Order: sequence, then C-alpha cells, then structure tokens
Amino acid sequence: MSPVGGVGINLAIQDAVATANLLAQPLRGGRVAEADLAKVQTRRAWPTEMTQRVQLMVQNHVIKRVLDSTVQLTPPSALRLLARFPVLRRIPARMIGLGVRPEHVQTPVY
Ligand SMILES: Cc1cc2nc3c(=O)[nH]c(=O)nc-3n(C[C@H](O)[C@H](O)[C@H](O)COP(=O)(O)OP(=O)(O)OC[C@H]3O[C@@H](n4cnc5c(N)ncnc54)[C@H](O)[C@@H]3O)c2cc1C
Repeated sequence: MSPVGGVGINLAIQDAVATANLLAQPLRGGRVAEADLAKVQTRRAWPTEMTQRVQLMVQNHVIKRVLDSTVQLTPPSALRLLARFPVLRRIPARMIGLGVRPEHVQTPVY
C-alpha cells in the first residue's frame, strides 16, 4: 500500500469490518471454507484497487510534478476547485475517511 493519503489504516479497518460481517457466522459454526475467504477477497479487492489507482494518480500527477519542478507551479485544476468551493472538500474527505466502499458492522451481538 502506498503511503499517499495515509489511508492504510482506514482500509485495514474497512477490511476488518467486512471480514467480520462475512466470517462471523462460519466462525461460530466452527467451519470456515475457502469459499468464505474468497467472499472477503471479492468484496475488498475492488475498493483496494480503486484506492491504489487514486494514490498512483496523486503520486504521478501531483507529488512527482512538485518534486521534479524547479519553477513555481500552479496547483492542478481539481485542487483549485477545492480551494474555491470549500463544500467540495467533503468529497475527498469522505473518500479518505470512509473509503470507496464504506463498510458497516452487521454482525449480531452474541
Ligand atoms: C512504516 C509504515 C508507516 C505507515 N504509516 C501509516 C500512516 O501514517 N497512516 C496509515 O493509515 N497507514 C500507515 N501505514 C500502513 C498501515 O500500517 C497498514 O496499511 C495497515 O497496518 C494494514 O493493516 P492490516 O491489518 O491489513 O495488516 P497488518 O497490520 O500487516 O496486520 C497483519 C497481521 O497479521 C499477522 N500475520 C501475518 N501472517 C500471519 C500468519 N500466518 N498467522 C498469524 N498471523 C499472521 C502479522 O504479524 C500482523 O500482525 C504505514 C505502514 C508502514 C509500514
């Protein structure tokens, strides 16, 4: 996982919640099959790949540009938009905080 955005822990928590939701019942029954584990992978692979794509985009189009530059740069248009319309900052904040596929605890209290 790239350190861009500092989202590793957020993703790990979302993975943990999804895993608990999918495996609580099989674990209580004392039988976890490979098919149960595959369900976790299927659910969490897409948000992980999407997050990594965004990280790569930021790395290549923002961080690399800044590090390679010897002159003063203007921020990318997306960042200028966020600076101009503060309400739009909720979108990246939500994406970083909750992820592209938010997870909610659905396991019953035993
Ligand atoms: C130097 C560094 C700095 C970071 N800084 C940040 C940051 O500032 N913000 C942020 O959000 N993220 C950060 N991260 C990323 C974040 O730490 C990870 O993305 C996150 O911890 C992943 O959590 P996880 O539960 O998926 O895996 P892990 O935290 O790796 O947990 C996996 C656990 O499984 C155990 N394990 C592995 N194999 C077995 C086995 N066969 N049997 C039993 N146990 C096993 C391991 O010992 C480990 O305890 C950083 C990572 C590094 C390395």
